[in-house]
Amino acid sequence: MNRIVAMEIAENIRSLKSTLGENVALVAVSKTKPVSDIMEAYNAGQRIFGENKVQEMVAKRDLLPNDIQWHFIGHLQTNKIKYMAPFVSLIHSVDSEKLLVSISKEAEKNNRVIDCLLQIKIASEQTKFGMSPQDAQALLASGIQNKLSFVNIKGVMGMASFVDDESQVAAEFALLKKTFDNLKTGFFADSPAFNVVSMGMSDDYRIAITQGSNMVRIGSLVFGERHYE
Ligand SMILES: *Cc1c(COP(=O)(O)O)cnc(C)c1O
Repeated sequence: MNRIVAMEIAENIRSLKSTLGENVALVAVSKTKPVSDIMEAYNAGQRIFGENKVQEMVAKRDLLPNDIQWHFIGHLQTNKIKYMAPFVSLIHSVDSEKLLVSISKEAEKNNRVIDCLLQIKIASEQTKFGMSPQDAQALLASGIQNKLSFVNIKGVMGMASFVDDESQVAAEFALLKKTFDNLKTGFFADSPAFNVVSMGMSDDYRIAITQGSNMVRIGSLVFGERHYE
């Protein structure tokens, strides 16, 4: 049983990577999954893993190879930043100036620069975190990206509504890509490092790619359904 599941994880990684090609990065979302599952993906060549709880990410990191790039994709509280500041590779979920300032402080204490994405609210649903495209525009118009030396804003992240209407999902992703393009033109025209559009999950990554995603965050399609306790 276990062996079959393990082989499936490796196969899922290989087939996703060949579908995605060179230009779309795969974040394997390993939240709730054991380190043994992560090792199966690792042994199939996967190096980027996404987690949405700081404690869980820190605990797993201690048990797994050092060359894993850990991406934080969950809602973030300022008091948790310090635990991941020594190692986190990319924080996808920055949705306020306060968070950005706190991340920069913790990064400085660790003598490193932390890469971040601005999480943009593109879904019509009320529950989603993220700043509006206008808020992101205003934040960068304040010049914060030049004042904080220990964060590097690399792009945007967003989640579409959980609906069957593919045209709605496509429109929401198109809004995120347009927001990225506007921010790039307005504030990062000379910064090739501002180049990440993180959008697309197991159910909608194909749509996201047609709308310009270059980083997808995929959990269930790699590791199977999650079982929450
Ligand atoms: C859980 C999660 C994912 C992956 O979801 P799947 O549907 O399992 O692919 C992607 N992004 C975020 C922010 C998540 O919390």
